[in-house]
Amino acid sequence: MFFFYLSSKDVSLANSMIPLGSCTMKLNPTTAMVPITWPEFTNIHPFQPREQVKGYEKLTKEISQYIATVTGLPGISLQPHSGSAGEYTGLRVIRQYLLEKDPNNKRKVCLIPVSAHGTNPASSAMCGFKVVPVKCLEDGSLDLVDLKAKAEKHAGELACSMITYPSTYGIFEAGIKEAIEIVHNNGGLVYMDGANMNAQVGLTSPGDLGADVVHLNLHKTFAICHAGGGPGIGPIAVNEKLTPYLPGHEITGLLHSETTGKEIMSVSSTAYGNAPLLTISYAYMKMMGEKGLPYSSIIAILNANYMKSKLLGHYPILFLKDDNSHCAHEFIIDLREFEKKGVKAIDVSKRLQDYGFHSPTLAFPVPGTLMVEPTESENLKELDRFCDAMISIRKEIDWFIEGDERGQVLPNAPHTLHDLLLNGDKYSEEYKKIAAFPMKDQQLNAEFWKQWPTVTRIDDTYGDLHLICTCPSVEEVANSQDN
Ligand SMILES: *Cc1c(COP(=O)(O)O)cnc(C)c1O
Repeated sequence: MFFFYLSSKDVSLANSMIPLGSCTMKLNPTTAMVPITWPEFTNIHPFQPREQVKGYEKLTKEISQYIATVTGLPGISLQPHSGSAGEYTGLRVIRQYLLEKDPNNKRKVCLIPVSAHGTNPASSAMCGFKVVPVKCLEDGSLDLVDLKAKAEKHAGELACSMITYPSTYGIFEAGIKEAIEIVHNNGGLVYMDGANMNAQVGLTSPGDLGADVVHLNLHKTFAICHAGGGPGIGPIAVNEKLTPYLPGHEITGLLHSETTGKEIMSVSSTAYGNAPLLTISYAYMKMMGEKGLPYSSIIAILNANYMKSKLLGHYPILFLKDDNSHCAHEFIIDLREFEKKGVKAIDVSKRLQDYGFHSPTLAFPVPGTLMVEPTESENLKELDRFCDAMISIRKEIDWFIEGDERGQVLPNAPHTLHDLLLNGDKYSEEYKKIAAFPMKDQQLNAEFWKQWPTVTRIDDTYGDLHLICTCPSVEEVANSQDN
């Protein structure tokens, strides 16, 4: 009952698209989700004897083959529980390889573009590497001149570089192959952050591009649900020379690879990490097949470009050379010019709730912006619905700037039913209508189902900095037991 109550307050993919850029919130097909409820998968202990886990042996072997095909890299470890754990594992593998080549290894420098996800420098530091940032150009692409200069300057101590492709700015880096070559020419290896694989699968691959290691986020690109931060799987794929160093397992060993004696220690307490969840990505890959997977990448890129083109006349879109340039599978709406006039990106983000939408990614990778990623899951109608909401909000931004009372819907958003119904004199009738049903056709449209926000605007920063315990005190529990 409590869980049902919580879930009824939530906006899910059944209510609206969840256009979180970089997060790839695609549909989790029911058929793919069902097997994790089967006892054949759930009632097996991770340390069960080998001869009793033939099914898991087949599953892990087959999905490893699929991952190798998709990434163009042959060596797979399914252990890491997340993308960031994949980064950590991949970098440890690189470090082990370098140590094996030279026990006095001095290669410790890791070049990371400033556009990188925060987990990149964090994982790098955890593995004992020294992070050296690389600049990006104004158009968002990697500054190859700076990359070359830094790679050459640190040539004697260069361990690797971490590159995200397409980049976290939502663009296909034209100089990706050259960037990889620069790092290789200076003795470093290339770690590709594969969180954006949704724009690559079946069209190109990290292996084709020349990367040495990549992690996938099966909980992004391969349909495992990941609301609330998990559970995830962040397998890594590596090239031949790194394969011997992939993590082993101290207790059970691995099911289908012989020990090489060079493995790094396990990065998960079990040999195959979150193994039961593999069934989701396995089913997804099987159902999509070799034709469906590249097609979904194409539709994901097409959807993003359709929305980008539709919104371009209303908002500035970042990192496009001109109005005709394409984005990858996501794009960034720049709201900074409105911030100067008093409308913050967070206001737009909260206001989208009144329209029944989940907000796009706020303030990453650029503060004051929203990053939109529709994925291939959304149909044309939903793409249009979201664009229409954003276009309608653009009009509200003008109201706010002009000092029109209706513009207050932005700083006041989101509006709850309580707020609008029970604060009778706080708002005018017209304000209430616009606040609750901003789009003209929403009030009368039987198809439109609004998921009402249940909490009005809160002070996010205050909440983040002050722990507020809502559980009863010991005395309260004791008193209630007395009665
Ligand atoms: C999501 C993401 C990560 C981290 O993955 P987690 O599974 O959340 O740890 C790393 N890099 C990029 C670009 C991402 O979008």
